[in-house]
Amino acid sequence: MSELVNIYCHECDTEVHAHFHDQSATLSVRGEQIDYSETVAICPICGEIIGDTRIEGANLERAYGAYRTLHGILSPDDIKSLRNSYGLSLREFSRFLGFGEQTIYRYERGDIPDQSHNTTMLSAKTIQGARLLLSQNRQKLNDRSIARIEQRIQVMADGIAEQSRLHRTLEDREAYEPSATNGYRRLDLDRVAALVYELARKCRDLYWTKLQKALFFADMVCYERSSCSLTGLSYAHATFGPVMDQKDEVRYILVSRGTIGFRECGWGEILVPLQLSTQPFNAEEIVLIDEVASFVNSFSSASELSDFSHDLSCWNGSVDGEIIEYTLNDGEVGRAMFERMNKLRSL
Ligand SMILES: [Zn+2]
Repeated sequence: MSELVNIYCHECDTEVHAHFHDQSATLSVRGEQIDYSETVAICPICGEIIGDTRIEGANLERAYGAYRTLHGILSPDDIKSLRNSYGLSLREFSRFLGFGEQTIYRYERGDIPDQSHNTTMLSAKTIQGARLLLSQNRQKLNDRSIARIEQRIQVMADGIAEQSRLHRTLEDREAYEPSATNGYRRLDLDRVAALVYELARKCRDLYWTKLQKALFFADMVCYERSSCSLTGLSYAHATFGPVMDQKDEVRYILVSRGTIGFRECGWGEILVPLQLSTQPFNAEEIVLIDEVASFVNSFSSASELSDFSHDLSCWNGSVDGEIIEYTLNDGEVGRAMFERMNKLRSL
C-alpha cells in the first residue's frame, strides 16, 4: 500500500519518497463511466498528490483494462499473439481481417478496438471464422500468407480432433465398473473437478505434481473410511510418486471446463482455482478434504512430500507404471497422515 519510491514533487521542488495509495476512480471510456482502481502518489512533505506521467499512464491502462474485461474486448497482447499464431505481418494480418493496416497497428499499441473489429478478431480464433475470413479476403493476400493461414486452420482442426479424442478416453473410463482400481466408484469427473478446485484453493503452491499426491491421499483415506474412493480416479506408480491415471486427459477437461488455470511459478506451473458450478461433496467429505489440505501444507517442499509417500507399503508394493489398487491400502495411508499431523500439533 505505501511502498516508497523516489519521485519529484513540483510543489516542494525536490525528490521525495512518495506514498502510494490505491483508490477507486471513474473514467469515461468510449462515453461510458468505467469504475476502476487508480494509484496516486502522495508527497509526504506537503501532502499533495504528485502528478507523474508514468503513474497516470498506468492508471489509464487500468481503466482501459476494466473496460476490456467488461465488454470481452481483446487486449493488445491478445491481438499480438493472435497475429503471431498465424505468423503474419501487420500488413498481411490486416488484409486477412479486412481492416486498414494502421488499425491493427493502433490496436496492438493499446487502442481499444471497436465492437465490430473485436468481433472479427475473435472469430479469427475459431476455425469457422478463419475459413470465412480467408474466403472473403483471399484475393488481397499473397500466396505465402494464404499457405500460412491454411496451415493455422489445420493446426486448429488437429487440436479439436485431439480434444475430442481426450474426451472419449475419459468417457470410456467413466463406464468402467467399480473395482479395486477405481476404489469401488465409477470415475466421476464432477467430483474430480470439485476436488481439484478445493485443493487448489486450500493448498499452498499447488504444483501439478504435488496435486497428484494430494489427490492420492484424499482418495485413499476416503476409501479407508467409507470403502469407496472420493472421485473414482485410478493411480499409477510413477518414479516420483503416485499419479492419476490419464492425467493429461483430466487436465485438459478441467482447463476447458474453466475449473482451473495455471500460473507460471519458479520451476513449474501452479494451479489457480477459477470456478466450480457443482459442489458434490457432503460435510464429511469436506472435512476430509480440509484434513488432506493441511497435511499437504505441512510439507515445506515437494520432495519432502514425495519421500513421505515412498515410505508407504501400498506404494512399495507396486512397481513403475502399475496401477496401485485401493485394496493395497489397509488403513496405512490415513494412519501415517494422522500420526504426522499429531506429531506436528504436539510440537
Ligand atoms: Zn511536496
